[in-house]
Parts: sequence; C-alpha cells; structure tokens
Amino acid sequence: MFCRECGQQVQEDWVVCPKCGIAIDDNERPLSNAEKRRIREEEKIRAKERSSSNTESLAGCIMFPIRVIVGVIFILWFLSKFF
Ligand SMILES: [Zn+2]
Repeated sequence: MFCRECGQQVQEDWVVCPKCGIAIDDNERPLSNAEKRRIREEEKIRAKERSSSNTESLAGCIMFPIRVIVGVIFILWFLSKFF
C-alpha cells in the first residue's frame, strides 16, 4: 500500500508513514477478496432480513382486519342463535 499523503510505499502494519509522519488510515486499505465476499454476504443477509420483516408486517396488516371481521361475524352468529 502507499501513503495517501506523500505516496511513499508503506507496509500494512505500519501506523505512520516514515517519510511524512502522517498516520496511515487503515480504512484506506483496499479490501481483500475475502473481506469483500464477507461484506457482500452480510449485506445479503441484511437484505433478506429486511424483506422478510416487510412481508411479515404486510401479512399482519392483511390478517388483522380479516380476524376482526371473522370475530364480528362469529359474535353476530352466536347472538342470532341464542337471542
Ligand atoms: Zn507519507
């Protein structure tokens, strides 16, 4: 890797550039393929969780009024039978 300040080649475990003395930002380090793959997997899992929770809330939105209607119909049927 290279110092982002002066372009001096530096080792990955160095914390400061020997030429200009600036702190080497570890975040500037290009990601290895394994790291990229891991981040992609995490994003995939997160996207899956998001979509599944969306589906659940959508199902809940649909199911709730249906349950209420079924409950009301059942109560009306029950009342008409006994009164
Ligand atoms: Zn430097």
